[in-house]
Amino acid sequence: MSNTRAEGGAAPLLARLRECIWRDGPIPVDRYMRICQSDPDAGYWQRAGSIGAGGDFITAPEISQVFGELIGLWCAVVWQGMGRPAPLRLIELGPGRGTLMRDALRAAGVVPGFLDAATVHLIEASAALREMQQHTLALTRRRASPPPCGEGLGAGGIPTIDVLQSPPPYPSPTRGEGTPMAIAWHETLDTVPDGPAIVVANEFLDALPIRQLVFVEGSWCERVVAADAQGALRFATGPRLDIDVERPGEEPAPGAILELRAGEDEVLAQLARRRAPHLALFIDYGPAEATYGDTLQAVHRHAWVDPLSLPGCADVTAHVRFASLARKARAAGLAVDGPTTQAEFLGRLGIAERAARLMAANPGRAGEIETGVERLLSPTGMGELFKAMAVRCPALPPPPPFV
Ligand code: SAH
Repeated sequence: MSNTRAEGGAAPLLARLRECIWRDGPIPVDRYMRICQSDPDAGYWQRAGSIGAGGDFITAPEISQVFGELIGLWCAVVWQGMGRPAPLRLIELGPGRGTLMRDALRAAGVVPGFLDAATVHLIEASAALREMQQHTLALTRRRASPPPCGEGLGAGGIPTIDVLQSPPPYPSPTRGEGTPMAIAWHETLDTVPDGPAIVVANEFLDALPIRQLVFVEGSWCERVVAADAQGALRFATGPRLDIDVERPGEEPAPGAILELRAGEDEVLAQLARRRAPHLALFIDYGPAEATYGDTLQAVHRHAWVDPLSLPGCADVTAHVRFASLARKARAAGLAVDGPTTQAEFLGRLGIAERAARLMAANPGRAGEIETGVERLLSPTGMGELFKAMAVRCPALPPPPPFV
């Protein structure tokens, strides 16, 4: 889509936002973000083609199958550490195209009993993406026969496998013997049946709306989205707030921006309400330490765009502030491991060894496998900016590789 066509696509939502702002006044950033994403007619998540090389942005499981496989093997090892409970609720928050879960289930199938114990629960807001996940996972089976080749133990006791998916960009679903996996979709974690649970969330939290507060003359004010006389959207400083906020260490400078994400509190409360044992893995981009700053961003067709320019047509997200997430998790009675960088997390799970085995078993695809893994680990890209953090019921020990 050219940018002009993108602007055309954004026009209906832009017109509605403008009218709403002219009528009722500027809206807080979290409301703007929510409308851009979830508007029932023109919200971004109503589109199925957002994720992947042909969409607006690409995520780790779409870059390399090794990512989902390592997460799947990690889940199986955590399950073993829980005492191999059955049923196990294997939950994914914001599964996108379903690629991570598909690769995870294929890999975790090498661990005896895991697929028989697991029931899969996908928390997904988008009807279009639910349909795509259903398609991706349709042929995933509880495997009846032993895995085809090359199992062993990799770094951190994580099993390794050498099975390569059919060619990218999006290989057909896993074909296998045995009964289909039970997969259920949910609006929130609260409706997933109780019982031992492992939760995985890759690039989910960054999509939850944020409020932005601006520090003006010694007080916090709401940052809002206004519309000028021509109808163009722009940021403005809204009402002064009588609010007690957790702030990063130092005194805020004039104009400092503080970002708050209430959706995280909800997810953590839902986790804390579950009967033990349960453990969640969050992988997302953002700083480990507490900081101020405006991190609202938007991508369209793999390029940064002004977050106010293409409402409903660009993916609007913001950094996850892991220090704040950890503090809130502990306040909810949960234990926290990490965060650690994605490079460190995947490195300690044995990504290099796994990739080497995969390349040796599939020499014709070695270059492509190597490039994908390098992207996940790059110090100037996903390897450092992305972090992994586990949140668990305190009765469980820290999971690998955090021990
Ligand atoms: N985890 C996937 C996709 C990340 S994109 C991957 O790594 O490829 C964010 C995902 O979260 C999408 O599937 C989106 O529809 C979903 N999502 C965003 N907000 C949500 C919410 N409030 N509830 C449920 N799903 C949500």
